[in-house]
Amino acid sequence: MRGISKPILLMSSIRFKALQEAISRQPLNVELPSNKVSDFFGVNVFSYEVMQKYLSEGILKTVRMAMESSTPIDRATADEVAIAMKTWALENGVTHYTHWFQPLTGATAEKHDVFLDIAPNGKVVEKFGGGQLVQQEPDASSFPSGGIRSTFEARGYTGWDPSSPAFIFGKTLCIPTIYISYTGEALDYKTPLLKALNALNKAAVPVCNYFDKDVKKVISTLGWEQEYFLVDEALFSVRPDLVHSGRALFGANPAKGQQLEDHYFGSIPERVNEYMRDFETESYKLGIPLKTRHNEVAPNQYEVAPIFEEANIAVDHNQLLMDLMDKVARRHKLRVLFYEKPFAGVNGSGKHNNWSMSTDTGKNLLSPGRTPESNLQFLTFFINTIKAVHDYSDIMRASIASAGNEHRLGANEAPPAIISVFIGQQLTKVLDTFAQGETKGKPGKSSEKKSLKLDIGHIPELTLDNTDRNRTSPFAFTGNKFEFRAVGSSANCAQAMLVLNTIVAEQLTQFKTDVDKRVNKSTSTEEAIIQVLRGYVTASANIRFEGNNYSNEWVKEAARRGLPNVQTTPEALEALITEKAINLFEKQGIFSKREQEARHEIQAEMYTKKIQIESRIMADMALTQIIPVALKYQNLLINNVKGLKEVFSSSQVLANVEMDSRKGKAMAEPMGNGGRYEDIADTQIAMIKEISERVSVIQSRTEQMIEERKKANKIEDATDKAFAYCEKVKACFDEIRYHADKLELIVDDSMWPFPKYRELLFIK
Ligand code: ADP
Ligand code: MG
Repeated sequence: MRGISKPILLMSSIRFKALQEAISRQPLNVELPSNKVSDFFGVNVFSYEVMQKYLSEGILKTVRMAMESSTPIDRATADEVAIAMKTWALENGVTHYTHWFQPLTGATAEKHDVFLDIAPNGKVVEKFGGGQLVQQEPDASSFPSGGIRSTFEARGYTGWDPSSPAFIFGKTLCIPTIYISYTGEALDYKTPLLKALNALNKAAVPVCNYFDKDVKKVISTLGWEQEYFLVDEALFSVRPDLVHSGRALFGANPAKGQQLEDHYFGSIPERVNEYMRDFETESYKLGIPLKTRHNEVAPNQYEVAPIFEEANIAVDHNQLLMDLMDKVARRHKLRVLFYEKPFAGVNGSGKHNNWSMSTDTGKNLLSPGRTPESNLQFLTFFINTIKAVHDYSDIMRASIASAGNEHRLGANEAPPAIISVFIGQQLTKVLDTFAQGETKGKPGKSSEKKSLKLDIGHIPELTLDNTDRNRTSPFAFTGNKFEFRAVGSSANCAQAMLVLNTIVAEQLTQFKTDVDKRVNKSTSTEEAIIQVLRGYVTASANIRFEGNNYSNEWVKEAARRGLPNVQTTPEALEALITEKAINLFEKQGIFSKREQEARHEIQAEMYTKKIQIESRIMADMALTQIIPVALKYQNLLINNVKGLKEVFSSSQVLANVEMDSRKGKAMAEPMGNGGRYEDIADTQIAMIKEISERVSVIQSRTEQMIEERKKANKIEDATDKAFAYCEKVKACFDEIRYHADKLELIVDDSMWPFPKYRELLFIK
C-alpha cells in the first residue's frame, strides 16, 4: 500500500462504485398494455379519429382542409377545436398544455401552462380556448436568433401547426407549433420546413400534370433511421465529458472493439431489449410507427427506424422520439447518446434520411413504374433530383454540418464530406444510354423516339429486385427512394429535409420552364421532356459515383472532377450565405436574406459553443484528473525504484538474486543480464520518464489550448470565431488526447479516475 495516498483511493473508488453498480443491474421488465400494438397505437394522439368524436361535421371539414391543404383556420373553428382538445385531454388525466416547438438549439422546447382560470365570480375553472391554441408568446429571449431579435424586442411567437396532430406527453397536452419573431422571421426548424414542403408541392404538381392531370398535391416522404449508443447511467455520471458534451474526450481503445463484427445484428442484450420495448411502447401510444430495431456495428450501438411518413410529421416524430428515448433510458438506468461520434476508434452514429415524393393519387414518384409513361415520370423526378444535388451539393453539405458530424464524415465509416450520388448499375446503364441519345441522332426524329420508348420500356425490370447496395454513398438511390446517409444522429432532420426539398423544388421549377420553352408545333411535350432530361443527365454526370466512397481513390477522383471536399463545419456553413444560396432560398420563399444570414450566424455560434464546452471539459479532465493520477502513479514508481535501491544495495543480496534467477528461465529473463538492481529499475525508470514526457506535453498543449480559447473569445464576428475555434482550439484536442490515452495504458488500473472504454461499451 506504500505510496498510494488517500485521495487516489477516494477518486478511484468512485469509478469502482460505478462499475459495481453497473455490473449488478437487472433488466427492467416492461409490461405492454396489450400484445397487439394496434390496440394502443395512437391512444395519446388527438388524431382525426378522435376529432370525429368531439367535433361537428362542419368543423371537421374545415380542420381537414387545413391539415391537408394548409388553409387557414378561423378563430371560431379554432375555439371549437380547442374545446374538443381540452375535453379529450382532461378525460385522459391531463392537467397542462404547451406549445411544443423546435428552436435552433436542436432540442425541442415547451412551456407548460395549467388549464386553469379564475372566472369573474372568483370561481376556478379549467380553461383553454382558440386564443391559447392558435398563438402563444413564450418568454423566449434566450433562444438563438442570430441577432434577428434584439433583446429589447425579444418577443417571439409560437403558432399552431394543424398539419401535425397534438399529443399527450406525460400529463401535458403538446401542440406542435412554429416559432417566429415579432417581425415574422423563422426562429425554428419547422417554419422553413413547412415552406420548403409547400415549395416542393407547388413545383412538383405542374410537372406531375405532364403525365397525370389528376394530381393535385405532392408531398415529401421521410423515413429516418436513428442510430444511438447506450451507456450505463452510473458509468456515464462519472465521466464529465459524457455528461457535459455527450462524447468521450478521452479513452484508449479496448482490446476488443468492433473488430470481430459480432455486434451488428447480433442478439440484443436483455436489458437493452427491455429498454427498446419500453420506448417503443411509449412511441406507439404517441402514434410513432416504429418498425425496426437492431444492433449496429459498434459495441453498445443500436438503431431504430419507423415506417416512413409525410416529412413534417416524420420530423416531429423523430424529435419526439429522441426526447422520449432519453427519458425512458433513465428509467432503465441507461443513458442514450445521440452524439455523432461519442467514442473515437469505433463507428459513429448517423441518421439516414430516406426521402421520396408522393402524389395525392397514391403514387411514389421515385418508384419506377411498369409502363413507358410512368417510367418517364419516374425518370423525370429521378433525374431532376440528381441534377438538384449536383447544382447545390455545397448547400447539401452545409445542411449536415455540425461539430459532432465533423468527426464522422470522411472517417472511413461514414460517407465522406464529398457529396455524390449513387444510383446502382442498372440505372447507371439506363441514364448513360439515355444521355447518349443526345449525341447520336437528332432529338425529335421518329426512329429515335421509338428506340427511346423502348429504352424506357426496359426499366420495369428494376421493380423486381434492386439488389444494388452502396453503403458508402452519402446520397444513394435504394429502389424507390433516395437515402441521405450523411445526416448526423443528433441533427434535427428538418435541416437536411428543408434543403433537399427546396433544391428539388427549384430544379423542378427550372425543369418546367426548360420543357415549356421547347414545346412547339414540331416538338411534343414528351419529346421536350426527353430532350431536357438528356441534357440534365450529361450536365450532372459528375456527381454520380458508384465506387467505394470511403476510399482514398475517391478523394483523388473527386478532386479531379472538381467536387468540393469540405472537411470542417465553419467552412461548410459558408455555403449558406453565398449569393447562390440566398437567391435560391429567397426565390423559393423559404428564407429572406436576413433570415439566412441569421441562421448561418446561429450555426457558427453553435459550433463555437460546442467546441468551447469540449475544450473546457478536456482541460478540466486533463489538469484535475489525468495529470494528478499520472503523477501519483509516477511517484509510486519513484518510491519503488528508491526501495529497490535500498533492498538491493548490498552485493550479498545481489548475488542471491543472481542465484535465484538462474534457477528458472521465467525468473531469469525479466531480470535481464545478471539481475543488477539498476537493470531491474531501468524499465521503471523508463516508465517514469515516459510519464514525465507525456504529462508535460498534455500540460503544455492544454495551456496552449486555453490561450487559444482566450484569443478566440475576443473575436466578435461569429464566423471568424468559429474558424478560430476549429483551427486553433480544436486543433489541440488530438495531441492532448493521444498522450492521455497512452497514460491510461500504463497507469495502475485501480487508480484510473474514470471508466474506460472496455467498461463503458459493453452492456451485458
Ligand atoms: P435499410 O436502408 O436499412 O435497408 P429499409 O430499406 O428497410 O432500410 O428502409 C429504411 C427506411 O426507408 C424506413 O424508415 C422506410 O420506412 C423508409 N422508406 C421506405 N420507402 C420510403 C419512401 N417512399 N419514402 C421515404 N422513406 C421510405
Ligand atoms: Mg437505410
